[in-house]
Amino acid sequence: ETTVNRIAAGEVIQRPASALKEMIENSLDAHASTIQITVKSGGMKLLQIQDNGTGIRKEDLEIVCERFTTSKLEKFEDLATIVTYGFRGEALASVSHVAHLSIVTKTVDGQCAYRASYVDSKLKAPPKPCAGNQGTQITVEDLFYNMSTRRRALKSVSEEHNKIAHIVEHYAVHNAHVGFTLKKQGESLADIRTPPNSTVVDNIRIIYGNNIAKELVEVDASDETLKMKMKGYISNVNYSAKKYNMLLFINHRLVESAALKKVLDQVYSVYIPKNSHPFLYLSLELDPRNMDVNVHPTKREVHFLHEDLVLDKIKMAVESKLLGCNT
Ligand code: ADP
Ligand code: MG
Repeated sequence: ETTVNRIAAGEVIQRPASALKEMIENSLDAHASTIQITVKSGGMKLLQIQDNGTGIRKEDLEIVCERFTTSKLEKFEDLATIVTYGFRGEALASVSHVAHLSIVTKTVDGQCAYRASYVDSKLKAPPKPCAGNQGTQITVEDLFYNMSTRRRALKSVSEEHNKIAHIVEHYAVHNAHVGFTLKKQGESLADIRTPPNSTVVDNIRIIYGNNIAKELVEVDASDETLKMKMKGYISNVNYSAKKYNMLLFINHRLVESAALKKVLDQVYSVYIPKNSHPFLYLSLELDPRNMDVNVHPTKREVHFLHEDLVLDKIKMAVESKLLGCNT
């Protein structure tokens, strides 16, 4: 049974960056306004995330790592989330099967903080009182220590670190009200640092540079019958970045859509010289019931109902901005 759980966990958590993505979403769900991430060896040795969110009550520490015992299934909106992304409540459980996981957490009205360590979904020992600030610190060490196939599938330390940095960059742009930092353990200078309560454009400037930030135009689109709303920032025709950057959030989850990328590539190919690329940040809101339920929550690629019509709306919105820039 342990082996089966471990293999399943390895499907949910494929690399340090995928574990981090889940943990960032948990911190955001806990209404954190600062999220500090520390990593060592591309997150393979150490992946630590500290937030100032609601914290976890002592009595809940026993179940947070059990599969599907999520605290987020109580409200209707959360049911919608399940419909959107399939089952949830697997992230921490999965991590506990393939890494050493420990949590230090304190709620506002908690007397003190508690520390708990887990193995294979279970507490190793009853939570112990300790010192700590309000919020939650989750430490993941030696990811895939017991799963050599997964470990071998990982890339170099620097590539894994880059994947982590991309996750942090994307979430920092999308959640500009939250202050993010990413640093390597033992280093005093952060790789990424965004202040709390900044704007999307501020954070694009901090992360991607002023060359991109100064060329951005705002886009938006909405359609009542399709139940879609979209807004974002895209580079105008004057700018051509060396790297393709497409940040796509659907219902506040970082996703990928090959279909959308293809449509936008077509639009930009008209305006942008060969071998150069646009910068696009798009936040799309769709009725969760229109999302494809067969897509596993950990798979980044998404599909949704009326996809062609929605993509057409986005295409028109982007195109009209680019035309606007020409005149
Ligand atoms: P889900 O997010 O789908 O509920 P997870 O496995 O990601 O499942 O998390 C399990 C539970 O652990 C959450 O429902 C939440 O109660 C708790 N939790 C995890 N991370 C945090 C955090 N940073 N702050 C507060 N609670 C957390
Ligand atoms: Mg979660």
